[in-house]
Amino acid sequence: MEQTFIILKPSAITRGLAGDVIHRFERKGLQIAGVKMMQLTEPLLREHYAHLVERPFFPLILDSMMATPVVVMVLKGKDAVSVVRAMVGATNCRKAEPGTIRGDFGMSGQENIVHASDSPENAIIEINRFFRPEEIFDYTLPTMGSLYAPDEL
Ligand code: ADP
Repeated sequence: MEQTFIILKPSAITRGLAGDVIHRFERKGLQIAGVKMMQLTEPLLREHYAHLVERPFFPLILDSMMATPVVVMVLKGKDAVSVVRAMVGATNCRKAEPGTIRGDFGMSGQENIVHASDSPENAIIEINRFFRPEEIFDYTLPTMGSLYAPDEL
């Protein structure tokens, strides 16, 4: 089963949306394989958002992402990366489709509630960046037989 990496950003924590967002992932049938709270730092964010470091708004991203501790998660399921990206929606909450997390919960391009890995390759890199191996749990959900058909497992 594929794993993907999630950050419940300070915009989720300060607005009290962490539970709502986690609830959506759980109801979808994604398995929580890892979860913890942490304070992000500038070096970690420079690595995580390396593709944006040269952009003029990068200092704003740093301030925003370090404003409070965040909740980081590893979610597991078939095609988890693309399933979660579809649930999260477009980067700008004002353009994200209703029904997506950003489309339903936000109004901002920057303060957009949640980060989710954009490819299986990046998911592996991001999980290793934020979690130690012993913080990822491998356990069987008793509901697997009703979540998936036998040939999907
Ligand atoms: P995504 O989070 O949808 O994968 P990106 O990797 O492009 O999007 O951007 C990372 C984060 O940087 C976004 O989630 C958002 O918080 C912030 N960001 C991206 N573009 C802008 C922008 N033009 N202005 C302000 N913040 C931005």
